[in-house]
Amino acid sequence: MRLSEKQIIFSKNVASLIVYADMIGIDLTFGDAFRNDFTQKQYVKLGLSKTLNSLHRKRLAVDFNFFIDGKLTYDFNDIKELGKFWLTLHPKNRWGGDFNKNSIQDGFVDTPHFEMQE
Ligand SMILES: [Zn+2]
Repeated sequence: MRLSEKQIIFSKNVASLIVYADMIGIDLTFGDAFRNDFTQKQYVKLGLSKTLNSLHRKRLAVDFNFFIDGKLTYDFNDIKELGKFWLTLHPKNRWGGDFNKNSIQDGFVDTPHFEMQE
């Protein structure tokens, strides 16, 4: 499958995620989607990202900010239902709150991050 075909599936899945978040009472605003190599290097230097090979560089990842009852949250337990829904949309989808897909909060936790692996 070509990269552009994956990006199109990813974008459609993000649309579904946004609609689902609204259904369960989570309001979203966008964080990063596409990130160029320069910015990614800066993020790694600052400790904001763990990898130079981020899927943001390939337009296969997006970060969100979450609001519940008007209050900003990145709490694992607040967002995990959204993370679980994301996994149902495509077998290659991963949620940053649960990179290893074990449904518990462990390892590197990046709750705003939703990606589609290559
Ligand atoms: Zn991210």
